[in-house]
This record gives sequence, structure tokens and C-alpha cells, in this order.
Amino acid sequence: MLVGILKRLGADEVHEAANGTDALDIIERLDQAVDIIVSDLDMPEMDGMELMRHLGDSNTPSSLIIASSMDQPLVRAVVKMATAYRINLLGSVDKPPSPDILLQLIESHDARKNQHRSSRGPSLQFRLEEIEAGLDNGQFEPFFQPKVLLDSGRVLGLEALARWRHPEHGVLPPFVFIEEIEDGGLIDKLTRAMIERATAWCKTWRDQDLDVAVAINISIHTLTQVGLAERLTRYVIEQGLEPRHVTLEVTETVAMTDLGRVLENLSRLRMKGFTIAIDDYGTGYSSMQQLDRTAATELKIDRSFVTGAGKQKSSRVILQSSLEMAARLGLTSVAEGVETLADWNLLSEFGCDQAQGYFIARPMAAEEVAEWIKNWHTDGRHELPVQAG
Ligand code: C2E
Ligand code: CA
Ligand code: CA
Repeated sequence: MLVGILKRLGADEVHEAANGTDALDIIERLDQAVDIIVSDLDMPEMDGMELMRHLGDSNTPSSLIIASSMDQPLVRAVVKMATAYRINLLGSVDKPPSPDILLQLIESHDARKNQHRSSRGPSLQFRLEEIEAGLDNGQFEPFFQPKVLLDSGRVLGLEALARWRHPEHGVLPPFVFIEEIEDGGLIDKLTRAMIERATAWCKTWRDQDLDVAVAINISIHTLTQVGLAERLTRYVIEQGLEPRHVTLEVTETVAMTDLGRVLENLSRLRMKGFTIAIDDYGTGYSSMQQLDRTAATELKIDRSFVTGAGKQKSSRVILQSSLEMAARLGLTSVAEGVETLADWNLLSEFGCDQAQGYFIARPMAAEEVAEWIKNWHTDGRHELPVQAG
């Protein structure tokens, strides 16, 4: 039936497989990659989930549509799983599918995007020595992304996000290097570079009468250093700033071995006047336990609960309860991943304090920040979401 619909919708070439094993055989035999795979979840021999794992492992250039009569929570969980396997999922349809919805999903397929993705995988991998040389040569710099107040649109600060300005490959984002840096013992070096540059920029902006703070991502490993809080405090003051101009964003990503040291540093940093933010709240190790024991003043809710939250009940409930909890604990709440006016409005309805995301601005080079802030305040754009909310 699906084959019939696809042909009627104008598909040139449709291959039919009885299950995942069959599908993989066909894919292997064809000279050219298929554009779109439409797969059920519950199939004999190899089910849709296993098929996705194999497709993900092979870095498939094909897009995927799930066609299933399973209940919504299960389909949603599988949609998340597909993303985790780095599959370009166009969406899911009921069984039998409505031709209209199917057509919409097919039209959202963008072959170039997938090619880009698959060619990016293995080719952009750097050896630790290359990364270290880049660090030593000052090729790592912060890009900055604004954090603004939801009620007035005022810019409070900017998060520093590491970028590698590679002489051949251009500006590279963290996913290309951050894991290698963490695993290879270079994270303190990166953190130092980020602190030096971000505080220098913060001072420059403040000297131009821009009342902003900077936020820096600090890895747990760096927080195990004895004496870190004192050194950082001294450094920030030497730069002509005060600790309250610096926010430290912390995520627990690994099993904590030196918990005592980390908590000592965080408590002392807080005592000195730094803002401590719990990053990626709601994911992995970033848990209620962390909330309970960290001297945090700010809660950054992970973007997986923010982007498009209005359309998904589970995200919306988690978002709303996290914001409520932050308020009751007296923490400043920050939502990351605010991509649309709808995201913004929902957050303002839920009483979130601050927002960060593409809807406001993408991370930008330091040189662009002052100009961006001036335009943001003068072109009235920040009034748009505020009025709408
Ligand atoms: P993060 O701390 O959660 O930073 C936010 C990430 O979300 C950034 O990705 C940012 O570009 C992205 N983002 C911002 N707004 C939106 C949006 O509206 N939609 C979507 N889809 N994404 C948005 P980026 O710059 O690629 O950084 C990724 C991660 O790398 C950061 O996640 C952080 O964990 C890590 N990282 C970046 N710089 C540093 C650093 O200097 N030190 C350490 N330890 N980690 C860093
Ligand atoms: Ca962060
Ligand atoms: Ca995050």
C-alpha cells in the first residue's frame, strides 16, 4: 500500500523490503544511496530500531521516515533514539499514512544537507597534537552568545563558546574538538585561554559603557584543582573586573571522583561573588542531586526541553516544573535553545527569567558583539517578543 502511495506521489524508484535485513541487503546492492527510507518499527527478523542502529553506524546519507501504528510515546522515544544515532529523520506517520503528510515529509528531505553531514564525519577529525598546537598558537577563541531578560529584552551577559579558528578549515565548533580536549588532558589549557580572552572582552565592553557580564563553561576537571577559586578571583580583579561580572557554567559529565574539591571550589567561588550556573539542567548527570549540593545561583535548562516545547507535552511539563522549582529554590532561571517566538512566549508565560538562543542571536565573533548590542537596543527588535508575550 505504501509503495502504491509513494508511486502516486511521484516517486521515481521504490524498493520494497519485508524487514530490516532485507532493506540493508537492498541498500548494499544499489549503486546509489536511496534518498529516503520509510520504515515500520515492528517487523519480523530485524525491527526498525535495529535498522536505525545499522544505518547510523554506516553514517547513512539517506533520510528516514517512520511509519508506525505504535502509540505516540513510543514513537516519540524512537524519534529521539534516531537522533541519537545521527540519522536525519524527516518525521513519523501513522499507518496507514495520509498521502498529504507523507508528501510534506518527503518534501523536507534535503539531499545536500545529508551529503554534507556524512562527508563531515570522518574527514574532520584531528589528532591531539594538532589540537594542542592550535591551542598553543592562539587559534582558539570565544564566540559570544547573548543572554537577555525575558521581560524587558535587556542584554545581561554573553556566554563564551569555544571556536577553533583553523587556518585551513575555518571556524570550527566544539563538537569537532571538545571530546579530544577533555580526554587528552588539555581542558585546563582551553579553559585558561577562554578565561583570558572572555574577561579581556568583558572589560573592553564595560569600558564602552555596555553593562554586561560574561559566562564561561568550566569543566569539572578544572574544578578539581586546589586553589582554583583564589587564582581565578585574583585574575579577574587584576583584569579590572569584579567576580560578579563572571558566571561559571558547570555540568557534571563524568562520575565525580574528587567531589569534595569540586564543591569546595564552587562554594568559595560563590562566596567571592561569582555567579555559578548549573548547565544543561535535566540531562545526564545534571540532576536534582547537583542542585541540592552545588552553591549555584542560576539554573540553565537544557535546550532539549526548550526548543519546540509548546508542541510536545513531555518537554512542556518538564520545562514548567523545572522553572517552578528554580523559582522556589530562589535560583535565576535561564532557558537555552530559544529558537522561535513561540518558544519565547511559552517561557514568558511560565515565568522564566532569561533566554538564550538563535531567536535572539547566534554565537558571534567578539568583534561583532558591541554593534549587535547597540542594534538590539535601538532597532526595537527586542520589543517584538516582549509585546507578543
Ligand atoms: P552549552 O554550554 O550547552 O552551549 C550551548 C550550545 O547551544 C552552543 O553550542 C550554542 O551554539 C548552542 N545553541 C545556542 N542557541 C541555540 C539554539 O537556539 N538552538 C540550538 N539548536 N542550539 C543553540 P556550541 O557552541 O556548539 O557548544 C557546544 C558545547 O560545547 C557547549 O554546550 C559546551 O558544553 C561545550 N563548550 C563550548 N565552549 C566550551 C569551553 O570553552 N569549555 C568547555 N569546557 N566546554 C565548552
Ligand atoms: Ca554552557
Ligand atoms: Ca546545553
